[in-house]
Formats: sequence, structure tokens, C-alpha cells
Amino acid sequence: MKVDPVQVALTCLFCGCNLQAPENAQYSSGDLIKCQGCGEHNDYDSVVEVAKEMGIAQLAGDIEKQLAAEIRKIFGK
Ligand SMILES: [Zn+2]
Repeated sequence: MKVDPVQVALTCLFCGCNLQAPENAQYSSGDLIKCQGCGEHNDYDSVVEVAKEMGIAQLAGDIEKQLAAEIRKIFGK
């Protein structure tokens, strides 16, 4: 079973738009990322935490869908 890579976007915790990091930007724990949309500063750790949760939820959904397809194949339904 092949699982497609999950695309996880970092989104602003204030307005929900995608955070655009400058090219080659290196963020680390404790940094603040400025949102290009609303100008608010997002705490890097919180943004990553949210992205991680969304990624896990998306991955779990994808696996469920693929499992359902496999089961249909096995049982010929
Ligand atoms: Zn924003």
C-alpha cells in the first residue's frame, strides 16, 4: 500500500491564510513568523503544532480511504 505524501501548509493562527516565509528562511523554536495577510506575529511552535495536527488528521483520512479501497478489492464489492 502506497501512501501519498501529505502536503502540510503553515497557516496564520489569526486569519488562517498561508504563511509565506521568505526564501531560505530558517525558523526555529521561539521565533515569531509575521503573517503577510494580517500582519500578526505567529508563534513558531504553535504554528508547527497546528500544522502537525492537521497533517496527522489528513494522513489518517487518506489511509482510511485507501484501506477502504483495498478492502473493497479483496471482497470484490
Ligand atoms: Zn494572518
